[in-house]
Amino acid sequence: MRKNIILQFVVMVVLLAIVITALSLYNLRNIGIKSAIHNAQAISEVVKSGLTSHMLNNNMHQVDTFIDSVSNMNNVKNIWLVRGEPVNKQFDRVDKTKLPKDALDKSVLLTGKMQYKIEETFTTTSVRVTIPYNAIAIKNVDCLKCHNVDPGETLGAVSLELDISALKQIGIESIYIITLVVLFAILIIVYLSRRILKPYIVLFEKFSVNISNAVQGKFKKISTPTGLTKDMLSLTDEYNKLMVNFKDTSIDIEQKLHGFIGYKTGQHGKDPLNESKEIIDNLSNLYQFKKEIELDDSRDEIYQRLSQVFSNKFNLKAFNFIEIEMTKNKMTTVVEKGDMFCCKTTLEETPEVCRAARTKNDVISMDFHNTCPYFEKEDLFYYCTNVAISKNVNLIINFVFENKEDLEELKSQITFIKSYINEAAPSLEVKLLMKALQESAFTDGLTGLYNRKFLEEHTKKLIPHAKREDINIGVLMLDMDHFKAVNDEYGHDIGDKVLKELAIILDENVRESDLVIRYGGEEFIVLLVGVNSEEDALSVANKISKKVRENEIDVYAGAKLKKTISTGLSMFPQDSSNFNSVIKNADIALYEAKSTGRDKVVRFKEEQVSSVDLF
Ligand code: GH3
Ligand code: MG
Ligand code: MG
Repeated sequence: MRKNIILQFVVMVVLLAIVITALSLYNLRNIGIKSAIHNAQAISEVVKSGLTSHMLNNNMHQVDTFIDSVSNMNNVKNIWLVRGEPVNKQFDRVDKTKLPKDALDKSVLLTGKMQYKIEETFTTTSVRVTIPYNAIAIKNVDCLKCHNVDPGETLGAVSLELDISALKQIGIESIYIITLVVLFAILIIVYLSRRILKPYIVLFEKFSVNISNAVQGKFKKISTPTGLTKDMLSLTDEYNKLMVNFKDTSIDIEQKLHGFIGYKTGQHGKDPLNESKEIIDNLSNLYQFKKEIELDDSRDEIYQRLSQVFSNKFNLKAFNFIEIEMTKNKMTTVVEKGDMFCCKTTLEETPEVCRAARTKNDVISMDFHNTCPYFEKEDLFYYCTNVAISKNVNLIINFVFENKEDLEELKSQITFIKSYINEAAPSLEVKLLMKALQESAFTDGLTGLYNRKFLEEHTKKLIPHAKREDINIGVLMLDMDHFKAVNDEYGHDIGDKVLKELAIILDENVRESDLVIRYGGEEFIVLLVGVNSEEDALSVANKISKKVRENEIDVYAGAKLKKTISTGLSMFPQDSSNFNSVIKNADIALYEAKSTGRDKVVRFKEEQVSSVDLF
């Protein structure tokens, strides 16, 4: 890291040095060329004046000596004169020493304009320049005096080769100097980076390690390296406070969430902040679930909702909800999802042996496949958990899997799954209590039979059904004969006993689909639902009367009591399509039975109506 920064600095300095050197060399070269041309122009003026004076003094034979002396000037590598065509014509002679030497000379003689070109190698630069002498005729200088030419015509030119390599040498020297300066700068950078940057870089590296640890949930403070500025020290200090804060908060969240739903953070190798967010999302879903089940109407709706959560949220394919009523030895499968109900039939007969219900512990197939001897598929895996939804009713949730991995997956999520179950349990209990309450409101406490209220409620559904399906209902109204005398002679307890035994006789002598109702004190109604005929109804009534007549009731100290009943029979819909009238008719027939001697069954007839003495 630190080496990288230094290297970047060094590269930057070297690049800067190269750019500066290139620029200076370029500038030096340009200056050199410009000054060479300037020099050449000055020399050409000197040569021009020399030539003119030699010409005027008739001293032209000494011109070469003059030119030689000029060629000795600094930087002048070579100098020669070129004579133009008009002058050759004037003297009618070609001076071979003054012929154009190269294309540049020729071009200048043709155009009459100064031209130059640069020739250079890496270490040397020379400027080859040719300056024309054009004929002018002004006050002090009048070329036309001596030359037979038109003004402006090119009389000749002076060509020079100037060496400006000295300037290039200066440039090369400056490269050496710049290189030295750069090397020096590099040394200073390395030195400074060691002395000044080092603590910052060390701190930066510590930050980088610490932050990547923090991302994984390891919140630690960092120690401050020496040599930091106040600002950096306060930054480190603030950072450490932040880390302490993070650590405390994450511990706090972990403990609180653990308390909420038994979910432990950090156990899945995720970073705790994301994990906390996930848990809070889950908690909010759980809260939503709780709100929804509070509004649910029945246990079935709650079971369906729980079942949806298992399927949709936890992706569980096969599970069963089994209600076990421990006191009644009754087992009911209320949800069967995935068609994998694998409890043996013996469990249905004796549900109290269910291991999960009995031990109240989770029963898992993982370690010993035979943990539950009542799970019949050896190649499947199971997880059973028990929820006590009331004192006597246990809900067993039985998850079934085809492979071990799925079971393992469930185990990793079971605490959270249970939090949904636990949220549902109180609502299930409330629904169970409500159902029991409803049942008790419809049941007679003494005999356990349905009461008059139930009859009223039930007939609301039963009668339309009977009408639709064209079903007969035989209505028996029964009343114990001289029952008051039992109370009077043996007391109310014996009276109650007599009533209970009558209830048992009634219950045992009718079909399951028939209804036995305690209608009033010692009055009972039996609805023979779907009875074929009046005759069948009469025979059931007579059978009951016979059983009652034959029944011996233990009264006290071996004493036995025998009682009889009177029964009135009417038929729905034969006697009336109004069911209340049918009941009334049965009552009228009962009255008839009482008034004509008791211990008999009387079929209702219309003429009985007039004989009823209502008072
Ligand atoms: P009969 O019907 O033959 O005309 O005579 P009865 O003596 O049975 O007549 P009644 O209907 O007057 O008497 C009914 C008695 O039943 C009156 C009441 O005290 C008694 N009774 C009603 N409910 C109960 C009960 O729950 N327990 C007991 N022990 N007695 C009850
Ligand atoms: Mg009676
Ligand atoms: Mg009575």
